[in-house]
Amino acid sequence: MKVVIIGGGPAGIRACRTIKLNAPDVEVSVIRPENKSLIYCAMPYVIEKIIPFEKIYKKDELLTEVGAELIRKRASSVDFEKKAVTLEDGSQVSYDKLLIATGAEPIIPPFVPKGLKNAFVFKREEHLKGILEKISQGARKAVVVGAGSIGIELLQAFRSLDLETHLVEMADHVLPNLLDADMSRPLEEKLIEHGIHMHLSTPLSAVEGQDYAQRLTLADGTSIELEDKDIVVFSVGLRANVDLFKGTGLEIAKDGIVVDKHMRTNVEGVFAAGDCCAFTSGIDHRPILGKLATNAVPMGKTAGLNIIGIPAEYDGFYNGAATIVYGIRAGGTGFNERIARERGFNDYIVSYGETTAKFSIFPDPGFVKVKLIVNKEDHLLIGAQVVGTMCVTERIDLLTFAIQNRIPVERLAKLSYSAQPYQSFFPANNAIVMASESALKALKKD
Ligand SMILES: Cc1cc2nc3c(=O)[nH]c(=O)nc-3n(C[C@H](O)[C@H](O)[C@H](O)COP(=O)(O)OP(=O)(O)OC[C@H]3O[C@@H](n4cnc5c(N)ncnc54)[C@H](O)[C@@H]3O)c2cc1C
Repeated sequence: MKVVIIGGGPAGIRACRTIKLNAPDVEVSVIRPENKSLIYCAMPYVIEKIIPFEKIYKKDELLTEVGAELIRKRASSVDFEKKAVTLEDGSQVSYDKLLIATGAEPIIPPFVPKGLKNAFVFKREEHLKGILEKISQGARKAVVVGAGSIGIELLQAFRSLDLETHLVEMADHVLPNLLDADMSRPLEEKLIEHGIHMHLSTPLSAVEGQDYAQRLTLADGTSIELEDKDIVVFSVGLRANVDLFKGTGLEIAKDGIVVDKHMRTNVEGVFAAGDCCAFTSGIDHRPILGKLATNAVPMGKTAGLNIIGIPAEYDGFYNGAATIVYGIRAGGTGFNERIARERGFNDYIVSYGETTAKFSIFPDPGFVKVKLIVNKEDHLLIGAQVVGTMCVTERIDLLTFAIQNRIPVERLAKLSYSAQPYQSFFPANNAIVMASESALKALKKD
């Protein structure tokens, strides 16, 4: 059998390795245009000079060491009837089974003039290199539009270089898809404390300039003047990379290629995985955005197994994710309150638990605050958020596991936990247990 994978990101790589490690005789070719794949998550930290550029290149051996062929070309069309992918140079690669893992492209708001040399999105090598070039030319200002995790990480990187740094965000708080406003406050305080100009509840309304973005006008009338060496980065969302398949019979929804639980598309023998797909929430099984590497990887694994005939299913997106703001870690999973309400969950309670992150008698004990959003009807978590100085991803993963496995808050209140002076609060309590007990009290009162 010959499998062709279009795309060399996390979904494509994981599918390729899954296939080759479980069925070494299957031939696999991975097609991707870039010379080297990047570890996108680490890109802001190159600007911040925490890691050198070379460290963010992924090793091609991830593909070649398992015996896959790497084709460094762009696919320009696919003929599903003939089962062949045409590459940019006109050559063709035929397949028995095809995996589409073409990812997603960052969006630039439509009112932004085209071709501005100091305006960037942030995904590929050329974007990072373009930004680094502006910095080396003596950039003095940087504006980040969008307060999602990437935007937040970029702000800190620009500010670390002493640039006058602005955040422009239409929501009233940072990380609006991850956290509710009551959890994001310590992060906003930190950003302000570090001199970042925060324009919250303030959509960008116009961008003027011909060769470069010269003036940004915000909805409240504020204008930010830029020079050609200054930087504006749009980090406002992603669009599935599916242009290649427009006009073919492949079913494509608003958020990407439609796949079933096995990552099969509507075309026989054609699978899709990762950011290029539309998929559903594991909580309410309705479509939801989920363009994260931590979703792309299990989707790639699921696709790989099904391609070689090992049945596997993908549950859906829970969207556990995290970031860091000047030492304060923040994460969310499931739905935050806004998203829960938008999806029709109106009857829920909210509870909190807060402790120091270490024994409180220790130096710099820090803090950890947990928020739970619990559905009144079945006492299941709809979402959870954690903000604190330590161990946030671990707690988010545990809470995702509780959501994924439909563990009611009664059981979460009985969580058996560990304690150690440098790594937790005293054995007497645990922020997740506290929040669960508080949820139970509220549910009883109701
Ligand atoms: C700056 C940044 C930080 C991030 N941080 C995090 C994080 O902390 N945690 C997290 O979970 N996620 C994070 N993400 C998101 C994560 O990187 C993506 O969700 C993930 O890369 C999606 O994987 P994918 O394989 O579906 O797509 P991609 O990684 O986008 O890969 C798509 C591949 O398809 C190729 N391709 C596209 N079109 C064609 C074509 N016509 N022919 C051939 N090849 C093609 C591309 O060149 C690429 O190789 C971050 C993203 C960015 C940009």
